[in-house]
Amino acid sequence: MLIPARMSEAEEQRWVGVMLDKLAAQESKRILGDEELTERAERLSAQYFEGRARPDSVRWVTNQNTRWGSCTPAEGSIRLSHRLQGMPEYVVDYVLVHELAHLLVPGHGPRFWELLEAYPRTERARGYLEGVVAADRLPHLPAARGE
Ligand SMILES: [Zn+2]
Repeated sequence: MLIPARMSEAEEQRWVGVMLDKLAAQESKRILGDEELTERAERLSAQYFEGRARPDSVRWVTNQNTRWGSCTPAEGSIRLSHRLQGMPEYVVDYVLVHELAHLLVPGHGPRFWELLEAYPRTERARGYLEGVVAADRLPHLPAARGE
């Protein structure tokens, strides 16, 4: 670590604290591997569905741009769009919980949404994802263009 020479010990301590916080923030944004994603889905199933949804594999896919997640109940496989990477944890968890629920109930009928009520941040996560979609559709202002 590069520390300016004239710092007092107290300043140095504070500065090291700030840097450690930054590292911790980066760490929490680390992208999960497919194996970790599967473990996470298993934990969420245990937490919200008494372990009844049993995913065999959960993985990221890059060919899924119109859906956040999808699943094949017969195989117990779940796929998440790579576009979710970097989004808040509760949003990724929501999509996992959503696809786990589809392993139990196909379609989006009342029974499906009843299951989703177990996850406390369903509404918030859906709002976040709707906001992302809406923002994508806005015409880009020349000044805001990151090109
Ligand atoms: Zn669905």
